Formats: sequence, structure tokens, C-alpha cells
Amino acid sequence: MKWLRNFMYGRYGVDQFGNFLFVTYIIMAILSLFFPILSFICYALIIYTLFRMLSKQYYKRRAENDWYLQKTEGIRKFLKRQQNKWKYRKTHKYLKCPHCHQYLRVPKGKGEITITCPSCHQQFDKTT
Ligand SMILES: [Zn+2]
Repeated sequence: MKWLRNFMYGRYGVDQFGNFLFVTYIIMAILSLFFPILSFICYALIIYTLFRMLSKQYYKRRAENDWYLQKTEGIRKFLKRQQNKWKYRKTHKYLKCPHCHQYLRVPKGKGEITITCPSCHQQFDKTT
């Protein structure tokens, strides 16, 4: 595997945007079984994904990844929150601060409690 290590030396490799492109490629590849016209997009995707992995222009690839992360920040936060909601569903409740709309996690089953928002320091009552 030495040749592979030498070959990959100084190359960009995989980042979040690369993972996203690869997953999109897999989905498109499956869809193209039913819609052959999509195979063009598949080729383009896999070529671009490989090009980014093997690229030696760190700066440009990093900028693309930053752009991707910035564009998907909302959806990634949303998905993370859904994941946590599910994970802590037995012990915690998620609610929004009525003043600043910050998401808060509070313990479940404590009855009526007064919550102090850590973000805007406003207080409000809620039954959990
Ligand atoms: Zn608040």
C-alpha cells in the first residue's frame, strides 16, 4: 500500500462536502437504474468527487467545503436537533425560548418550572 500512500501524499482527500457528493452519487446511481438519463449526472458527480479527493489545491477545496458547510448549516443543525430530541426523548424536552427563539433542553416530568434562558437570560414558566 506504499504506492497508495505516496500517491495520496499532498492530496486533499475527503471532507464533508466530499461525503455529501459521494452520498448524492449513490442515490443518483440507484435512481439512474429507473431513469437512465440521470447516469450523465452520476458520471459528472463521481468525476468531480474524485477530482476533489486527488486535488493538490488545498485552498480551493477548503473554500468549497466552507461554502458547503455554510449553505447547509441550517439543515445540519435541524437534523442534529432531531437526533438529540430522539436520543433524550425519555429524560428531556426541547422547547424554544419565547423571547429569543433559542432552542433549550429541559428535564422532563418536573411539573411547572421556571426556565432561565442561557442565551438572553429572560425567565418563563413551562410545564415539562
Ligand atoms: Zn432566550
